[in-house]
Amino acid sequence: MGMGVLDEHADKIVLSPSQLATEWAALEQRMAVFALAVAHVDGTGAWGDDGSVSMLAWMRDRLRMSNSDAHAWLRRANLLNHFDAFAECAVTGALSSSQLREVEKCNTAKYRPLLRELQEDLAADIADLNAADTKVACTSWRRHADALVEDTEPAVEPVRSLSTTVADDGSLLGRFELDPAGRVEFQTAIENALTWNGKDETRTAAQRRGDALFDIVAFFNLNHTGNGTPRHHPHLSMSMHETSATSGQPDATNDADGEPVEPDVTSTKMCDCIIHTILRDAQHAPIGFGRARYTVPRPLFKQVAARDGGCRFPGCDRPVRWTEAHHLIWWERHGPTEYDNLALLCSRHHHLVHKMDLVLEWVDDGWDLQVTWPDGSVRTSRPRGAPPTRAPLTRAA
Ligand SMILES: [Zn+2]
Ligand SMILES: [Zn+2]
Repeated sequence: MGMGVLDEHADKIVLSPSQLATEWAALEQRMAVFALAVAHVDGTGAWGDDGSVSMLAWMRDRLRMSNSDAHAWLRRANLLNHFDAFAECAVTGALSSSQLREVEKCNTAKYRPLLRELQEDLAADIADLNAADTKVACTSWRRHADALVEDTEPAVEPVRSLSTTVADDGSLLGRFELDPAGRVEFQTAIENALTWNGKDETRTAAQRRGDALFDIVAFFNLNHTGNGTPRHHPHLSMSMHETSATSGQPDATNDADGEPVEPDVTSTKMCDCIIHTILRDAQHAPIGFGRARYTVPRPLFKQVAARDGGCRFPGCDRPVRWTEAHHLIWWERHGPTEYDNLALLCSRHHHLVHKMDLVLEWVDDGWDLQVTWPDGSVRTSRPRGAPPTRAPLTRAA
């Protein structure tokens, strides 16, 4: 029986009806404050500090919550965070948890603009009602809202939009809006693409999400099924001076928009993609048109992939389909397209290697890859796949 526990903790366990009511009111108040705290932590992104991929994942792990409980708290957090009238009532105790659960059903994309306008009225209408009456009131509120929403907004609202501008330094700034289905796709993709460098992590949660977005975009470009192969590189059309391609600071423009391409981007792209190059003389007149060709032929890529098994950057676990073949001695520095001059890198690390000009080399007579940073620090990675059983291709086809 539980009486032993009751006796032992009598000072902590209240028993009278009035004490229960007081206790519950205090709990309600604390839960409302807790939901606001959840909203705050969610907003700061600080849940990523320990390597969690989302607030939801953090709550499952650190608060030991079920997925559905964590979702319920996030819904509550979202409501209280965006609607001051309900937050105020929740904290003062005028609205109970059960009542808030009914109000949450009015916080959908369709009703949200109206709820924002009418929150004070609805809060006043349902304050101090019991849960059953609150349910009736909220259902009736939504019926009225249906009529209003349909009357005032006959036009179909665009639910997904993306607008971007290019800043002076060449970076991209933008705004986007996604409907709930879009949000789920987006959040799932970001969660799956997030990386964490373990205890060496120096990126903020926002930077890690930015890297995830970069990887998703690069992954799409590597894998979209334009020609039916799993490894389909985009045709990149750049113009550059004849002497510039192997100069170490390639000076190219993107033929799609005529904009200059950053040297490190040009280097990364020349490392492994289909190249169309228009060579120009000093007066910018075209003097030759390079044939489209892969820098790394497919059979050779497959052999490198069988050895490396994914990104070879130390600590990275990206699988093969996220990767590009990097020339250890850069292609533009006349590095050969050969088995032992190639290593797989994911798009993010490939770009990092070119941007920081990191030195990659084989060590220990095997396929351990050593990466040397400009400050002299060194890290190594081991191949994850088996070396090929037959002799590797030595020349580009
Ligand atoms: Zn490269
Ligand atoms: Zn990587």
